[in-house]
Amino acid sequence: MIGSEYIIKATQMLENEHAKLKRTEAERHAEILEKFPEYGELEEELAQTAQDIVFVVIGGKTVDRNEVIEKIKNKNQSIQRKMTDILVNNGYDEDYLKPLYYCDICYDKGAVNGEWCSCIKRAAIKFAAEDLNGNGALRSFEDFDLSFYSDKFNDKYECVPRETMKRNFEDCKRFVEKFNGTGGGLFMIGATGLGKTHLSLAIANELIKKGWSVVYNSVPELLRKLNSEQFGNSEGDTMQVITDCDLLILDDLGAEHSTEYSLSVVYQLLNARVSHNRPMIISTNLDMGEIKTRYQDRIWSRLFSMRVLLFYGTDNRLRTAGNDW
Ligand SMILES: [Zn+2]
Repeated sequence: MIGSEYIIKATQMLENEHAKLKRTEAERHAEILEKFPEYGELEEELAQTAQDIVFVVIGGKTVDRNEVIEKIKNKNQSIQRKMTDILVNNGYDEDYLKPLYYCDICYDKGAVNGEWCSCIKRAAIKFAAEDLNGNGALRSFEDFDLSFYSDKFNDKYECVPRETMKRNFEDCKRFVEKFNGTGGGLFMIGATGLGKTHLSLAIANELIKKGWSVVYNSVPELLRKLNSEQFGNSEGDTMQVITDCDLLILDDLGAEHSTEYSLSVVYQLLNARVSHNRPMIISTNLDMGEIKTRYQDRIWSRLFSMRVLLFYGTDNRLRTAGNDW
């Protein structure tokens, strides 16, 4: 389970959201009573029917007890109908005064059957993810400028850079539109400065706005954190957060020191995400040859199980690789 500090933060968030909704409920109720005083009278009558039922039930057996109860029930329902009519006839939704909850699973209790509710777990992961994220400012799709890329055919790279980038740009936007927290991901290959980070951070930005938990950081930085936690120099649950977050964005694969340790951690990471069917976006400045020499087949095969986006300047032969979503 995720660190208790994040669980505490999550339960506080739930309490705050719940309190906000209760305030909204109270405001709505006061508004209706002020506009339609008859609504308040009906509320009193409704409460009276509940009391009447109790009275009959504890009053013991009478000949027509069931009949009396039936009558009170009918009265109760007719009052409720009148109350709903007041709302609906005045342009309100019939649920306008129903209790509001932040979470429809635990009704804001935070737990279900003695376990933390998914609303708490999700919020805790989100808070933990925020703490793990790199310093890079989030970017947007709007400020991604395609005119920056040449629209002339480039002999060396055998492509029109702007067209290639337009495709990548659209793939990234589609990734956001289709995002549901499951599935593969994107593997961005290309030299530095071609927009990989910009597009990754634009995706992160859009998905965070939609409430998904996203971790974005560079591979070397995450390895440093994992290393220091594993060897007891610091506390944290980095591995769990990067396994459980909705989207993991690993920037700069290949910039880490290539050691047995780093290879095994990279493999563990990719494997954890792929085997749980959780999406990733990984970017690298390495070219195809370098990726192949550096990473064993088991890493390689996981990288290329994702949709490959080639940023121009890379090996165009890859474009024929099976890249259908
Ligand atoms: Zn809940």
